[in-house]
Amino acid sequence: MDLRICRDAVKLLKEYSDEAMPNEAVAILVGRANDLYGQVDVIYLVPNEDRSPLSFSVSPEILALITRELGERDIIGIFHSHPFWKAYPSSADIEHMWGYRFWLILGTDGMRCFTLLKGNVIEVNIKVEDRSCDLVRVKK
Ligand SMILES: [Zn+2]
Repeated sequence: MDLRICRDAVKLLKEYSDEAMPNEAVAILVGRANDLYGQVDVIYLVPNEDRSPLSFSVSPEILALITRELGERDIIGIFHSHPFWKAYPSSADIEHMWGYRFWLILGTDGMRCFTLLKGNVIEVNIKVEDRSCDLVRVKK
C-alpha cells in the first residue's frame, strides 16, 4: 500500500512540526483512497487542542469545518509529530486513530506512515511526488 504525497507538503509538515515544538503538531490529510493507495491532495494544518508533547487532539468544530469543504474528496488520514519519540504509533495513537485510514507520523527517526489492517499496525510506503498539494492553515 502506498501513500502518495507532494514533496512540498512533506517539507511543510516538517517545518510545521518544528514550529509546534515542544508540542505535537497535527494535520488532516484530504484526498482519495482505495485499497491500494491513498492520494493526498489537501492538507489542513490544525491546532493541537492538547498543546502537549505527548498527545494530540483536534476540535470537533474544526473537523466539521473540514468535512463541509470536502466535496468529492474524503478525509483519508491524519498526520502528527512525535517531538521526542520514534515515528511509530503509540498505544494511545492506536486507540484514537482507528477511524483514519492513513497515519502519517514524523518522529525523531523521520517520517513513516501506517495503517490498521485487521487490528494490526502495518507500515505504508510513502511515495513522494513532484506535484503540488493545497495547504490550508486553520487558525483557532
Ligand atoms: Zn503519536
